[in-house]
Amino acid sequence: MLKALANPRSSFNDEGWLEPHFLADIVSKAKRSSMMAAVRQRHTKPELNLRQALHRVGLRYRLHRKDLPGTPDIVFVRSRLAVFVNGCFWHRHSNCPKATMPKLRASFWRNKFERNVARDLRAQALLRAMGWKVVVVWECQVKSSELASKVAQRFLRARRTPRGLHKRGQQEGKRKRNARR
Ligand SMILES: [Zn+2]
Repeated sequence: MLKALANPRSSFNDEGWLEPHFLADIVSKAKRSSMMAAVRQRHTKPELNLRQALHRVGLRYRLHRKDLPGTPDIVFVRSRLAVFVNGCFWHRHSNCPKATMPKLRASFWRNKFERNVARDLRAQALLRAMGWKVVVVWECQVKSSELASKVAQRFLRARRTPRGLHKRGQQEGKRKRNARR
């Protein structure tokens, strides 16, 4: 990945995701696939929007805790809350217009997406088993700082009524478990 980033031809799109066709030029298909599987893009625009909005409402957090499953983007240690800011395309935000299916090499992409989603669910399950609450925030929900502020307000309210986020987390978990069946 570092090699790819150092390459002047690689670039980030508006959302901060590394453009796959640039990677295609640099490394083999298999290598690329394992690289992108291993590396979650950090400090993306949506993630920064949310971080800034959380900071504005006075919430403090840790970033990218590598010792936790899935390396959650934002972590509230005391309330044991792990937050993932997921790209709608790579992590398949359901019913989101950004989660398009490329027509070219469709089976490659289908496989890739299935692995991404499975990895996400596995990390979330591990976190829950360790007693963490998990919240997934989608790129499209924090694509502007105005939207991010609304999400930050929800975090703030949930913190004031501690059961709020917990309930939400459980519902999210139930939904995910149902989706897996
Ligand atoms: Zn979305």
